[in-house]
Amino acid sequence: MTLVSVAQVSYLVAAILFILSLAGLSKQTTARRGNLLGMAGMAIAILATVALALNTSERPWGVTLMLILCVLLIGAAVGMHRARTVEMTQMPELIALLHSFVGLAAVLIGYNSYLTEGHDAMHLVEVFLGVLIGAVTFTGSIVAYLKLSARMPSKPLTLPGRHALNAGALVASAGLLVWFLAAPSLWPLLLMTVIALALGYHLVAAIGGGDMPVVVSMLNSYSGWAAAAAGFMLGNDLLIVTGALVGSSGAILSYIMCKAMNRKFLAVILGGFGGETSSSSAGVDGTHQEINAAATAEALQRARSVVIAPGYGMAVAKAQYPVADLVSRLRDQGVQVRFAVHPVAGRLPGHMNVLLAEAKVPYDVVLELDEINDDFAETDVVLVIGANDTVNPAALDDPGSPIAGMPVLEVWNAAQVVVFKRSMATGYAGVQNPLFFKENTSMLFGDAKEQVEAILAAMTARV
Ligand code: NDP
Repeated sequence: MTLVSVAQVSYLVAAILFILSLAGLSKQTTARRGNLLGMAGMAIAILATVALALNTSERPWGVTLMLILCVLLIGAAVGMHRARTVEMTQMPELIALLHSFVGLAAVLIGYNSYLTEGHDAMHLVEVFLGVLIGAVTFTGSIVAYLKLSARMPSKPLTLPGRHALNAGALVASAGLLVWFLAAPSLWPLLLMTVIALALGYHLVAAIGGGDMPVVVSMLNSYSGWAAAAAGFMLGNDLLIVTGALVGSSGAILSYIMCKAMNRKFLAVILGGFGGETSSSSAGVDGTHQEINAAATAEALQRARSVVIAPGYGMAVAKAQYPVADLVSRLRDQGVQVRFAVHPVAGRLPGHMNVLLAEAKVPYDVVLELDEINDDFAETDVVLVIGANDTVNPAALDDPGSPIAGMPVLEVWNAAQVVVFKRSMATGYAGVQNPLFFKENTSMLFGDAKEQVEAILAAMTARV
């Protein structure tokens, strides 16, 4: 058996491990195993790739090995440092930034492949498409990173004739492809790269705050296709398979997110959604009531059924740990406590599930929107902990609202609602929330973690 065939078999094993990993990640109970399988697959893939590189290298193998080890060490050191220090709330930004690297890598591989390899038509098409997808992914992901980290406003950029601009960019790229095939040179490739970079910027800049979840998963998908394109250019089957897996799972996730937000996929991709506040709720005003931790503790101890709707603020405050304590305390006292998790709560698909799992909340009390939305009417107390857009009734009542049509947790149907946040400020989509002014709603101002701890202390004092 030659080294090449051993590497091919290893690639096959790695590809199977990646598929099993994805299957494992689809359920909380098997997610840990899914991660381990993915890590094993990646280790096998890296070993096989390094062995192949050493085998085919024209330099002495020692030099190639040193070069590979150097970049591996630098990458691993930076990656491990970031993974250790990143706050859970910064995860989406980090992922967006990592997607941009995949895009950049596809662009660089494309240029390298064009400059060092033959110019047959098939190869030229691979290079052109690889650079195109890579460049769109690169700038798109950087804009997503800037928006998610609030370094750029989340308002959509609505240039006049923006759809025509996007269509024009695609038509121009098609023309440049014809030129590139007819007379291969760097010019059409360079011009297309500039257009694709601008297109990536414009596509994501045109998407408003509320629709960012779809963008994050869409860029995930693009980064997969960029990796697959790089696989074609490098003749690496595993990269093609892995890229296609990421590309298609990202596309499925985008579809799920669109469904969760009741958006049409194409409409979101074409942009310009989620920011115009032509709505009446932009000027929502009224009087709100306040409550304190002691009164909340009292209400909770009187309740038979409690639902907690967590959101981005719970992640910021790292309140999941005292929340988990509160849940177990109430359950010990015979109160039914469940979580209502909105599909786009937080800043990352599955964000709340990860936080709650981290705090060891039992999976069976964590319910999805569809599973719990009808139960609010029979709920005594709802605690909205750092959630805002995902519990906004304007999504249902106000057709002019930027989040109109998005299914939301109908918490206001419960007997009593307590909203934990620090001020009357809006959520990510920048829309005011009429929930705060409802008669059965009280605001518990302050940091969510401190307030939950204060409730726990008040409960202890009452015993
Ligand atoms: P929101 O982002 O709408 O609101 C979070 C609220 O938390 C804010 O109103 C803020 O109010 C409050 N908050 C912040 N820090 C604290 C703190 N320390 N203690 C208490 N409260 C705090 O949250 P949701 O989870 O309801 O909605 C998610 C939004 O993010 C949606 O618009 C969604 O589309 C978007 N999004 C989701 C992504 C995903 O994949 N899940 C990706 C990208 C965007 P205050 O400042 O007054 O404290």
